[in-house]
Amino acid sequence: MTAIMKTKPAYGAELVEVDVPKPKEGEVLIKVLATSICGSDLHIYEWNEWAQSRIKPPQIMGHEVAGEVIEVGKGVKDVQIGDYVSAETHIVCGKCYQCRTGNYHVCQNTKIFGVDTDGVFAEYAIVPAQNVWKNPKEIPPEYATLQEPLGNAVDTVLAGPISGKTVLITGAGPLGLLGITVAKASGASLVIVSEPSDFRRELAKKVGADVVINPMEEDVVKEVKDLTDGNGVDVFLEFSGAPKALEQGLKAITPGGRVSLLGLFPGEVTFDVNNLIIFKALEVHGITGRHLWQTWYTVSNLLRSGKLNLDPIITHKYKGFDKFEEAFELMRAGKTGKVVFFPNK
Ligand code: NAD
Ligand code: ZN
Repeated sequence: MTAIMKTKPAYGAELVEVDVPKPKEGEVLIKVLATSICGSDLHIYEWNEWAQSRIKPPQIMGHEVAGEVIEVGKGVKDVQIGDYVSAETHIVCGKCYQCRTGNYHVCQNTKIFGVDTDGVFAEYAIVPAQNVWKNPKEIPPEYATLQEPLGNAVDTVLAGPISGKTVLITGAGPLGLLGITVAKASGASLVIVSEPSDFRRELAKKVGADVVINPMEEDVVKEVKDLTDGNGVDVFLEFSGAPKALEQGLKAITPGGRVSLLGLFPGEVTFDVNNLIIFKALEVHGITGRHLWQTWYTVSNLLRSGKLNLDPIITHKYKGFDKFEEAFELMRAGKTGKVVFFPNK
């Protein structure tokens, strides 16, 4: 089979021919129908500091997936051949304090499928049976593969009430774009998006943003205040990982408001905690991964509702992996929303 493999500890990746793997005990083999590129795949491709410390080449990349189960390993009871599935990427231990108190998303022993193991940028892939999510047949593979990042967006947007609320989203990369459609589908009354890239501001509008702001040219805090009768937004959702965006959002949110932080910052961030969080009595949520499995149910139900506007977010579709380098370079240049491969088409 063909697979995108990180073959060497250096920039890039290679298309390789390898044997179709055999599922071991507790694993299933899937035929990959669709797989999408995540920001972390790009980091592995670029071989940034995080990738250098975590990835051990040679390894097949990728973790966002939709596929059909074609073989099951020993001891697998709940997953059958023919099941149409996606996969949670956090492989949790089930034994630590967090797991035993229902907080699987912060398991102390989390391994990440496609980061710590071979992944799904291949015609066939192994998935641990405990990580399998069964998809309803009516959800097409190109949407079903987006459920894992949609789970991040859902946990960010729905960490508190959203219906009827005014919202600021900073960063309209793939995750911010998914956040916009989740917020609109969940009844936010006003979604304001701050994003420096012209291309991504256009996408944000297509996905449903009510107002878009270029933070390099406009005063984000003033614009947000003007749009909310001087009060500031009820909810601030940080999807950029830019320290400046964090500070602007904290200034633009109304006292007593709710903040969700998903974007990962390049390092330590300094700002006025007393005036921007404590005296504003803000409710601040750090968001990591997805709640297992509540968030998967929410994502699946949102997809089935037909209310999510995903088509403008999927900017690039490729049959096979032949043009994978083009896909990664476009993504690096910020010229994509989500990129989806159909390895078996
Ligand atoms: P991305 O880098 O494609 O998107 C970030 C966007 O923020 C870009 O479009 C960029 O132009 C924009 N931006 C930069 N500076 C800005 C500013 N000052 N104001 C507003 N926008 C600004 O990343 P992505 O794949 O969409 O992911 C978003 C963030 O979420 C990343 O930081 C990623 O590392 C993080 N992430 C976190 C988790 C988690 O579990 N916490 C999971 C996945 C991704
Ligand atoms: Zn655990």
